[in-house]
Amino acid sequence: IAVAAMLIPLSACGNSRGGGGSSEHKDSSQVSIGISMPEQQLERWQIDGDNLKKQLEQYGYKVTLQFADGKTDLQSSQIQNMANQGADYIVIASIDGTATGAAAEQAAANGSKVIAYDRLIMNTDAVDYYTTFSLTDVGKMQGQYIVDKLGVKEGKKGPFNVELMSGSPTDNNAKYYYEGAWSVLEPYFKSGVFQAKSGKLPSSVKDWQSIGIDNWDRQKGQAEMENRINSFYHDGTKLDAVLAPNDAIALGTVNAVEGAGWNYFPIITGQDAEKANVQAIVQGKQSMTVYKDTRLLAKTTAQLIKDLADGKTVKAKDKFNNGNKDVSSALLTPVSVDKSNIEKELVDSGYISAADAGL
Ligand code: BGC
Repeated sequence: IAVAAMLIPLSACGNSRGGGGSSEHKDSSQVSIGISMPEQQLERWQIDGDNLKKQLEQYGYKVTLQFADGKTDLQSSQIQNMANQGADYIVIASIDGTATGAAAEQAAANGSKVIAYDRLIMNTDAVDYYTTFSLTDVGKMQGQYIVDKLGVKEGKKGPFNVELMSGSPTDNNAKYYYEGAWSVLEPYFKSGVFQAKSGKLPSSVKDWQSIGIDNWDRQKGQAEMENRINSFYHDGTKLDAVLAPNDAIALGTVNAVEGAGWNYFPIITGQDAEKANVQAIVQGKQSMTVYKDTRLLAKTTAQLIKDLADGKTVKAKDKFNNGNKDVSSALLTPVSVDKSNIEKELVDSGYISAADAGL
């Protein structure tokens, strides 16, 4: 049995799609992997990077992890260096999925396999796989939460004041998050049950960038909400709900509301289940977040690389178009979390400790 087991990977190596410019089977200690993460402001990218590195090192691979400080040029040069050093696989969570294309092409030309992590690399053939969570589902969960909590299905007529923001204009994900949310919210805006006093409502879903918050920046989100509050809600007009596309922008919104000194919090959505936000949910300041188990994303990505390095043919279940081609993709399932299921989803699963959650 031992002999047979040893032979399987060797024979599989004949059809290897492994990188490094060679299809030869390599000993795991010879397999090198670069991980390029966008920044470390948001807790998640640090956790994603660490998890992925750990998983890959457990397989015996050599791993380099770099963060690009939110700077597209820095990220491109980091990717190029990884490729120059002969990385067999490069995992990239792009700052700007379009800007990363050129570096991905150089990496592919050097023989590296390129895996887009969480965010797709756009308009190029030089991306082999994509691992992420179902993007439109994230947005749908945020939109649905607003609809459910405002009780419109139970017959509440409104009109309710709902303010919308979208994520970074350079992040392809942000478009899909907004599309998902808008698919749920649109009928209520059309029928006048929802209205945005600020008038900041894209006339078409294609204009999602017009309400985008650069770089998903918390402070920019806060400034945007302070402006809207000062101009349209300062006179006692009730702000019923805010579509905040992720936890950074949700926290900015919470700060803006606290600054306004109201005796209530509107419904505020989020995404990522960051520690500070889970605490804000426990405290009743933020309403919900969309939990994407980054441990699972890292595990899925590491397993994909292992299969490729072992010379297996990898058939991904899903596909996602990047403007040039359908990229083989794995789309994981997000979970909507609020006060009622924080313990079950986040604490019991070990994602966050009860103490960190503020429970
Ligand atoms: C990710 C989110 C994250 C956001 C800001 C998106 O591409 O999918 O999880 O909150 O970027 O970093």
